[in-house]
Amino acid sequence: MFSKILIANRGEIALRIIRACQELGVASVAVYSDADAHAPHVREADEAVHIGPSPSSESYLDGRRLIDAARRTGAQAIHPGYGFLSEREWFARAVRDAGLAWIGPPAEAIAAMGSKTAARQLATRAGVPVVPGTTEPLRDDDEARAVARQFGYPVLLKAAAGGGGKGMRVVRADAEMASALAGARGEARKSFGDDAVYVEKYIDGPRHVEIQVLADQHGTCLSLGERECSVQRRHQKMIEEAPSVAVSPELRARMGATAVAAARAAGYVNAGTCEFLLDRDGNYWFLEMNTRIQVEHPVTELVTGLDLVQWQVRIAAGEKLPDLGALTPRGWAIECRITSEDPANGFLPGTGRIEHLHLPSGPGVRWDGGIEGGSEVSLFYDPMLAKLIVHAATRDMAIARMHRALLELTIDGVETSREFHLRVLEHPDFRSGNISIQWLEQRLGELATPRAPAAAIEAAAIAAALLAERDRASRWSGGHGGAGAASEPPAAADAWRRAALAEGLRS
Ligand code: ADP
Repeated sequence: MFSKILIANRGEIALRIIRACQELGVASVAVYSDADAHAPHVREADEAVHIGPSPSSESYLDGRRLIDAARRTGAQAIHPGYGFLSEREWFARAVRDAGLAWIGPPAEAIAAMGSKTAARQLATRAGVPVVPGTTEPLRDDDEARAVARQFGYPVLLKAAAGGGGKGMRVVRADAEMASALAGARGEARKSFGDDAVYVEKYIDGPRHVEIQVLADQHGTCLSLGERECSVQRRHQKMIEEAPSVAVSPELRARMGATAVAAARAAGYVNAGTCEFLLDRDGNYWFLEMNTRIQVEHPVTELVTGLDLVQWQVRIAAGEKLPDLGALTPRGWAIECRITSEDPANGFLPGTGRIEHLHLPSGPGVRWDGGIEGGSEVSLFYDPMLAKLIVHAATRDMAIARMHRALLELTIDGVETSREFHLRVLEHPDFRSGNISIQWLEQRLGELATPRAPAAAIEAAAIAAALLAERDRASRWSGGHGGAGAASEPPAAADAWRRAALAEGLRS
């Protein structure tokens, strides 16, 4: 086992990796930019190295500084987390060339799966079904229209280098093609420095189901079952769960075997995820393989009992995976991504100081967060602040538990997605599992607007009554306005929210 590793990331995933290190008895080195000088991951790690200014291009994306920091601190390996440099083949290679271990797949496997077109070619060769479409980038508008007609509208233009839902455009007719192609290309160039775009048939009403795999250096490659991530906005996941209501044990075994075949074809080692679209008839198509730890890995951890991040480290250190046989998921897990976005305002990312943070707890609740009271939320980095994850015996119980946990959560100082999640959880379609990847977008109007005035007025009345009651109580107990007043705004806001949400649940 390594004695020390460097974590080339920030926020919740850096803390998650530090926790894995602590349990493995491995020392951790954090890195931080100017904006993160007081971030929790810096304090929690055994050592921390300043790597540059706030913009990630000058800090978390600067491979040279990261490798330098590892060398200076005597770290033997680098864990890249997700995002930033986690899926950059050149960085995995540079880490290896520097004589350090890379806690991830070989650079060659990252390259094989790094471009969506290359991955589609590889999957096809391995007998893995892919979404109908091209495996070569488009030359121009004419070719794009010809290909689209061949597969039939609607089609989806996708950036070959894509990720995070960027560089994608749905096209429904010839007339939309030129502007959509220019848009997809522009976004791809800006996000990935590569404007190659190809065509996939746009599949209507499927679910997003992905398979977690773990492969060691000794030839064992295991499927750990599925996660469903159909609750998406702009092709980005908001809520994930494991298992999926749409996957039977037989389908789980088949999709697992498919994912293992794709991973083996790429010479895969370490943790990875094969993403699929699944239709109502149980047909599924490979989308891509993510060659890193996923944001939503905790739901798999909770239903399998395996610590995926510890396994990433153990695999990189040369350990063998045990023979786990056919894994059956235990219970149900759900994750909500808590972001600093304002759903009532077009999901505009917000900034500010976390004035007050109260975390949910109790049975079956896990908080993977990167913030604390006093944290500054800036626009330099991803708006995901934390993940709230629950585990319970059944899906219904997990939904009730998540709802309860979200009500316990208070984040004051920045707008967050918390209330939006409550509304999704309250929706009959979500409760019955009747969702697809288009479901959320089609209901954004109803889910993202502020609560109905009648409910809000009643909730405000309840909150006022609660406050009056408290005032009376504090007078009797000898309290006086001065000190109490300071804590009143957050308490009042809390009471208001709880009352409003209780109202929402009843109606
Ligand atoms: P990215 O790497 O940018 O996340 P993906 O290929 O993983 O891109 O796709 C992201 C999401 O976009 C999927 O989860 C799915 O919701 C949607 N999507 C991707 N391909 C298709 C398709 N061919 N038809 C319909 N939806 C798609």
